[in-house]
Amino acid sequence: MTTAQSFELVVKGGRVFDPARRIDDIQDIGISGGKIVRVARSLDTGKAARVVEAGGRLVVPGLIDLHTHVAGSLRKAVGEDAFVEPDVAGVHGGVTTVVDAGSVGAYTFGGFSRFVIPNARTRIISFLNAGAVGIFQAPEIRDRASMDVESTVATIKAHPQVVKGVKFRMVSPAIVDLGLDLPKLAKQMAVEGGVRVMVHVGDIIADNPKGAELAPKLLSEVLTAGDIVTHTTSHRVGALLGRDGRLLPEALDARKRGVNFDVGHGMANFTFKSARTVLDQGFIPDTLSSDLTVRGRFGPLKSLTEVMGKFLALGLSLEDVIRMTTSNSARSIGMESELGSLAEGRTADISILELHEGKFLFRDNFGGTLEGKIAIAPWRAIRAGQPMPLDHGPHPWGWLPERAG
Ligand SMILES: [Zn+2]
Repeated sequence: MTTAQSFELVVKGGRVFDPARRIDDIQDIGISGGKIVRVARSLDTGKAARVVEAGGRLVVPGLIDLHTHVAGSLRKAVGEDAFVEPDVAGVHGGVTTVVDAGSVGAYTFGGFSRFVIPNARTRIISFLNAGAVGIFQAPEIRDRASMDVESTVATIKAHPQVVKGVKFRMVSPAIVDLGLDLPKLAKQMAVEGGVRVMVHVGDIIADNPKGAELAPKLLSEVLTAGDIVTHTTSHRVGALLGRDGRLLPEALDARKRGVNFDVGHGMANFTFKSARTVLDQGFIPDTLSSDLTVRGRFGPLKSLTEVMGKFLALGLSLEDVIRMTTSNSARSIGMESELGSLAEGRTADISILELHEGKFLFRDNFGGTLEGKIAIAPWRAIRAGQPMPLDHGPHPWGWLPERAG
């Protein structure tokens, strides 16, 4: 008879769903020292200090939200509607890692790294804004003077564990004033810092032809393997859909070269119609992300798990949406050897989710609705071996989407 192995925590009896390792099976996960030490059909919990019963639930690698705005509490001006607290986007919503997409730039990163990151239980990765003050002013880049290549590169190099990229937006007025110099300067910061870029496509001003003129050049002349395009499914001029509704051929070429494509639901860059138009052309984004803000949480966006439900309703499979929030997101930030899988030896970042069947009503930000039969709700995040509580959720009744009539 073998003696029971001791664990600090065992996640017991859940449906372990790990697309990176092609596992979909009822298994137990044994955790010690913040790491996954055993994954097996049935672990003896006799010496486990704590057991989380996950029967009937989905146990997946810790969800990674590739596009959020989590500099909450740094900017509390009148009418604050932008940044959420990291744990609201993160562990209190079932998500273990959030990528802050350009809320802060080189001049504001100090406050973020000193006061926000150490107070969060969620793992935070930063993509520094190419505009030196980040979204503390909006729009963050007004002219060339808004960008400070030297300071941005220095900040990237000083924080290699946290800063994994440079974020910039192809929006007015910067695209009008700077043209292709905008993405080229941002790319220069990333190259000198040894990181990738994440670019927001789709202008904030409707029908400005400049964005549409620049998008093909951005894709073919600036972006290289590993860079990320966010708002892949946007309906905006200057995003990936041409006026004829076809995906830009340069987007298809960029994907072949290894550029990654992210959803970034957000408030202004997503409709069900444009998402359907992109998906119908066989273009499945690499990653799903929320672009969560305070307004988004209480607007139609709600949460990463609700965005996952929307893409199930749009026809993607459960495996697709889990891969797009775990292993693909880990690869997109260059952390696939640390995150995105439940393999033994990995940090015990785990998301436990519930699948609910019913008739759900999803909304986009422009009046579009879509019915779905499956909703995904968070149940628990485990961050480095520590189970984290959920908050109440973005709806008055909690986490589940609205019920259809
Ligand atoms: Zn954003």
